[in-house]
Amino acid sequence: MSGHLMNTYKRLPVAFVRGEGAWLWDASGRRYLDALAGIAVNGLGHAHPRLVAAIADQASKVVHVSNLYEVPEQERLGARLAQLSGMDNAFFNCSGAEANESAIKLARLYGHQRGVEVPTIVVMDRSWHGRTIATLSATGNRKAQAGFEPLLGGFARVPFDDFDAVQRVAENNASVVAVLVEPVQGEGGIQIPERRYLRQLRDLCDQRQWLLMLDEVQSGMGRTGTWFAFQHTDVMPDVLTLAKGLANGLPIGACLARGTAASVFGPGHHGTTFGGGPLVCRAALETLAIIEEEGLRERARAMGERIVAGFRQTLSGVPGVVEVRGSGLMLGIELDRPCNELVREALEAGLLINVTYDTIIRMLPPLVIDEAQADQIVALLSPLVRGFLSR
Ligand SMILES: *Cc1c(COP(=O)(O)O)cnc(C)c1O
Repeated sequence: MSGHLMNTYKRLPVAFVRGEGAWLWDASGRRYLDALAGIAVNGLGHAHPRLVAAIADQASKVVHVSNLYEVPEQERLGARLAQLSGMDNAFFNCSGAEANESAIKLARLYGHQRGVEVPTIVVMDRSWHGRTIATLSATGNRKAQAGFEPLLGGFARVPFDDFDAVQRVAENNASVVAVLVEPVQGEGGIQIPERRYLRQLRDLCDQRQWLLMLDEVQSGMGRTGTWFAFQHTDVMPDVLTLAKGLANGLPIGACLARGTAASVFGPGHHGTTFGGGPLVCRAALETLAIIEEEGLRERARAMGERIVAGFRQTLSGVPGVVEVRGSGLMLGIELDRPCNELVREALEAGLLINVTYDTIIRMLPPLVIDEAQADQIVALLSPLVRGFLSR
């Protein structure tokens, strides 16, 4: 079994051998409804025929060449993402942590180019930016950080969705060069800030010449009903990081930049062996085309509203349910107590979900789910939540 794997995961006792859309099957033929999508990765669900064909075709041509050469698929992906996001250019790597690592390096270099000796980035409580030392230091989760000290300096932490706190940092710390924030916090428990929060941050960043850096590793790629969550507002970021849903399961991360931020890096400043290879970029291009052509942003919005309405109906007034909330298909049910055991109970009922921040049931279904599957998520989970809360 796992005797030769490092003991870093408390894994659930199931292995999936096949998938199709929002369904997964284990080796015994049992079927599960996937309401987690590999943690917001498999937006197109599993084994999407068009994506399978694109990956197979590209694999038969060229998988990897090195960034020492021109990579046309990478250029095309950079152009397409620029078009969809309004950003100017992109750097590709292999994960969300690396995308944020790129953003942190970019912000530090930007600071040094402006004569700031100890460039500092404002980060948030309950944030999640990754597990490398820099991104772990930026992350607002003490449990994840514990044991890995010394953490990296150069971060100033404030509560999420508290603009006044950021303003206080602005008044007291002349070394700030950027703000790094998730427009919707994912690991922090589907935390949706007040509508004006991003606008306020944007205005402050403009006043102070700070970079507004949005981590959309989880909220991007159509998940909240727009290509990127910031597009629910009229705010544009200077830096935008993407990963999870970008190539539907192939490892890719992207750090996009705009305006001044787009010309901070020059040759030799940053690099990667694997990042932006032909195979992953082709998969990402096909993923973007499918999201567009199958109307999956609209679907994410409609199915998200349907699921939230369903849970509000079935769980409203149930003691112990604090809130049902969502933005597109980033969905959370906050309870008043730790509820990790619900993950295993849901699995036994044939439903894949997740619990984050101990008390928040999180669902990130594939964008392709249909009405019947949306209703099934509610029908399977609601009785489990009720049962759990009445114990
Ligand atoms: C998952 C996540 C990351 C880290 O991505 P990895 O690919 O696991 O390194 C960073 N930021 C956010 C918002 C995430 O949800």
